[in-house]
Amino acid sequence: MKLSQYRSASRGMGVLALLLVVTGCAVNPVTGQREIALVSTSQEIAIGQEQFAPAQQIQGGPYNTDPALTAYVDQVGQKLAAASGVDLPYEFVVLNNSMPNAWALPGGKIAINRGLLTLMRNEAELAAVLGHEVAHAAARHGAKRLERGLLAQAVLVAAAVGTAGQEYAGGVLGSAQLAASLLNQKNSRDAEREADFYGTRFMAQAGYDPYGAVTLQEIFVKLSAGRQSSFLEGLMATHPPSEERLANNRMLVKQLRDEGTAGGVLGQPAYARATAGLREVQPAFNAYDEARDLYEDGDYDAALAKVNTALAISNREALFHGLRGSIRYKQSRYDDALTNFDRAIERDSGYFVYYLSRGLTFAKQQQNGRAKSDLSQSVRLLPTASAYQALGQLAEAEGDLEAAKQYYAQAGQGQGAEGQAARLSLTRLELPEQPAKYIQTRVGLDDNNRYVLLVRNNAGLAVKDVLVRVELQTTEGVRTTSQRLSYLAPGESRRRVLEVNPAVVQRAAAYPVAAGLAPTR
Ligand SMILES: [Zn+2]
Repeated sequence: MKLSQYRSASRGMGVLALLLVVTGCAVNPVTGQREIALVSTSQEIAIGQEQFAPAQQIQGGPYNTDPALTAYVDQVGQKLAAASGVDLPYEFVVLNNSMPNAWALPGGKIAINRGLLTLMRNEAELAAVLGHEVAHAAARHGAKRLERGLLAQAVLVAAAVGTAGQEYAGGVLGSAQLAASLLNQKNSRDAEREADFYGTRFMAQAGYDPYGAVTLQEIFVKLSAGRQSSFLEGLMATHPPSEERLANNRMLVKQLRDEGTAGGVLGQPAYARATAGLREVQPAFNAYDEARDLYEDGDYDAALAKVNTALAISNREALFHGLRGSIRYKQSRYDDALTNFDRAIERDSGYFVYYLSRGLTFAKQQQNGRAKSDLSQSVRLLPTASAYQALGQLAEAEGDLEAAKQYYAQAGQGQGAEGQAARLSLTRLELPEQPAKYIQTRVGLDDNNRYVLLVRNNAGLAVKDVLVRVELQTTEGVRTTSQRLSYLAPGESRRRVLEVNPAVVQRAAAYPVAAGLAPTR
């Protein structure tokens, strides 16, 4: 107990020390205001570079079917980046995601979803979205979110230190977990207002009609009135469309016109050309989105019919083949599933889900070598608890317990049911050889001046045949006895009174030497 407290304390000190080291004062490159900067520009850039790939994977993966579309978006984005006057390694990608959304990581790494591109009508509207995201990156909004996260982490550690006997569960965050938390943290309202203000200025400077920012807001306001709420997650959640925002944008455009900076292009024909392919397959994506919902509801026959509709329109989209494979997997038709995953990977080798799904299917068919290779590839693209858990099971089945333990330990860092399952798998393997890690023992005097042994099961699983060695240093020499407990439920504590005259005891110690797993009662 004491030990874990010390560990938590030292970890807390580590985070606080880090904060102190990196704390500085800097001038915001966009607003020109002085502000506290916990994360330096070079750290910001490094974080963005490191997290961009996993963040894209988390959000559906890059849209690889239409590389010309991504090149077009990047070219528009670079104009806004240049207009920002802030030198960052800007990069713009299109993600294979139907939700209307766009986001920026620190350091100028920006993504826009396929589902937002199909809602817009001209390049000026695209420039409004990208200008807004460029402003977030240039004004360090992502870095500020990161700083808030670091501070929250420090508070969390401090809270854990304050709670006696509680091991701090979080530990150091894996790289993909940082990407996920960056995507989840919202910007403040002030940051959003700032991004609208500067983003619209950047687009005017880059030669676009800033009125595109107004028509973009009009699209959102109309959408939020008419569409289902599930469709409005993403961008709408982080950027709630409002009449107030619309009015602000109108005012800003008027101001820019008065200054003589407005009057650029809308770029309707160029936008229509670049997005023609995407618009053509839109009916297929609509069918796919319906199939996806049916799949998540467990209605596999209906999902299969819908995904077949999508495939009849376009055979080129990896996503459609991938979903078909997942449906086949759920129906235990593993051969068919493998065919579909092969087709998905042939069309798009850059999305972790296809490798993870095919790896799990190979495992079902006892093709362990292929399963391991696919699961490892999925982990290279995005480390997940599911993949590590499956790799652990494969290693355990082959008798490589050391490898199995390492995989389970990795998976056990994850949250939710999969993380929990992996932690139990690891306990199952470690308990017989390291009982002291899971069985807590203590010996001492109770209120009635008797020596008692306390045994607690911290394994999270039921245990049996727990053997505890008790050593008593007495005036007549060392006395060693064994105490056996036949069963302990998860979290259960037992006490045993020791048959010894306390007057002769000089020192007492107890430690578990054996424990086995019990079938859960
Ligand atoms: Zn924003």
